[in-house]
Amino acid sequence: MYNLLKRHFGYEKFRPNQEEIINAVLSGQDVFASLPTGGGKSLCYQLPALKFEGLTVVISPLIALMKDQVDEVQSKGIPAAFLNSSLESGEVAEIYSRLYRKEIKLLYLSPERLAVEGYLERLGELNVSFFAVDEAHCLSEWGHDFRPDYLILSKIRETFPGVPLAAFTATATHKVQDDIVRILNLNNPFLVRASFDRKELYYQVRPKKSVLTQIEAYVKAHPGESGIVYRTSRKDVEKTASHLRDQGLKALPYHAGLTKERRTEYQELFNRDEVDVMVATTAFGMGINKTNIRYVLHGDLPKSMEAYYQETGRAGRDGMDSDCLLFFSSGDMARQKYFIDQLESPEERKKSLDNLNYLVRFAQVNQCRRKQILAFFGEELKENCGNCDVCKDTRERVSATVDAQKILSAVIRTGESFGATHIIDIVRGADTEKIRSRNHQNIKTYGVGKDKSKLWWRGIVDELIGQERIFQDGDHYNVLKLTEAGRKVLFGEEDFFISDTTAAREEKPRKNTLLPNLEPVDEELLKKLKEKRTELARENNVPPYIVFSDKTLNAMAAVKPETSGEMLDVSGVGEKKLELYGSAFLAVIRDSV
Ligand code: ADP
Ligand code: ZN
Repeated sequence: MYNLLKRHFGYEKFRPNQEEIINAVLSGQDVFASLPTGGGKSLCYQLPALKFEGLTVVISPLIALMKDQVDEVQSKGIPAAFLNSSLESGEVAEIYSRLYRKEIKLLYLSPERLAVEGYLERLGELNVSFFAVDEAHCLSEWGHDFRPDYLILSKIRETFPGVPLAAFTATATHKVQDDIVRILNLNNPFLVRASFDRKELYYQVRPKKSVLTQIEAYVKAHPGESGIVYRTSRKDVEKTASHLRDQGLKALPYHAGLTKERRTEYQELFNRDEVDVMVATTAFGMGINKTNIRYVLHGDLPKSMEAYYQETGRAGRDGMDSDCLLFFSSGDMARQKYFIDQLESPEERKKSLDNLNYLVRFAQVNQCRRKQILAFFGEELKENCGNCDVCKDTRERVSATVDAQKILSAVIRTGESFGATHIIDIVRGADTEKIRSRNHQNIKTYGVGKDKSKLWWRGIVDELIGQERIFQDGDHYNVLKLTEAGRKVLFGEEDFFISDTTAAREEKPRKNTLLPNLEPVDEELLKKLKEKRTELARENNVPPYIVFSDKTLNAMAAVKPETSGEMLDVSGVGEKKLELYGSAFLAVIRDSV
């Protein structure tokens, strides 16, 4: 198995759980595996395909990606083909004759294909050794788009007794797991629930101010890198994309308001590294197979922790350091709260509110971000992660006790019955109807904070909430109330510190810390290798990441192999790829040293 791993995939070691899954499959056992995005699920059916005598059938809903997937496995020296509705009848006939001649080891099928009457039986003539169901969460009604065609899959188990059946998903919930095991009738499956910790993702939250400028600054500081910028509304997607384009950056919009052809075209351009930034609504998601996405920015608050994790999870699938950056404002929170209030069903309202509160807490509380994310998925991180903005906060802490007391006092003096906006108005001495009608201009704290901006006070309130000195009472119109810890600050028993926000943040290029290279990466060479990759990808009509991943190119630019043998030692270079591309890259390296 290690031989196959090295020869075809160019890797020395298995990722966590891969070996166990493969062993189970090879011994004929059914498998349910939930591995995070980038965890290396495909290898779990591609490697057995090489070992098995007969055919391995992969059922995948990602029709648009099948060609790329097949190109990818072929480039690893695994004979493969796909069958879906996009093919002409001549092409289909050709594939069948190759199948009957046993020239294909791995067949990708769409569920629609399988759903055709009598199709499953027809597969019986082909000596199938193994069935793998990819993106298996589509089987769960909870999955994002439930597909009736998937129900045919429940027949596999009885039609092919004795043939192992494995389901793969990146969804973590137990509900989805139960649905999948039940609908596929998995027989005593080997269960794998991998850790959802993605160490390569650097999580950070920043206050949202003028978000277009903030996004622009980030993108400019990371030239030539692939990234996704999520925005909630189509309008903001368009606005952000054209803003970035106006700045000379290569960005495109993606949302459900564009025609299907447009969307496919844009996704393709992104896939092929012709465009750096995809500005998108959550409509952009299913089937992003690109492994070199270096950042995911959220210009607005996502819907839930689950959505946030899934969206950010698209970064760093090649295992290289990547950024996940959320711009947070309490205005966004209030807006979502407003929409939630309009929901008809009380259960929906409750669920959405819980989701919102969890995310708001995540953004505001001064606690390791990764710890919070994993806790959401029921995983406990014993120690702080050391790779999030909270863990790495080096900004100086400055005392803001007096300002905190001004807010706390205004909250108490108005009977803990008002929201943040009104409290800030009082502290700033505003002249509003609400203040006049309640005589709040007469309380002692009225106007004591005239000298500072609304935004400043909003920041203090957010920090007070984040440090749990006050809380928003979700059951009572989000009015502010003091906690025990808040009283201690109010009565001068404890000081209150905030990070020094005057120290502006500079956008810096990322330094990859995960690469185990002893040698530093030669940036000049890396650039040339990437150019070569683009050229070869165009020539062969495949996305660049299929030629070599970013990680592999980085390793090449560090180790600088000079012979085929040394090239094979680079992680991600297998025999087939060496044969296809080795000499071209060796020439680039030779020219540069
Ligand atoms: P998933 O489908 O779980 O999201 P993929 O199968 O696309 O993940 O794998 C993500 C990346 O990790 C790919 O570039 C793949 O080649 C790489 N990979 C898979 N297994 C290994 C391994 N054992 N060692 C190094 N890289 C691996
Ligand atoms: Zn952390």
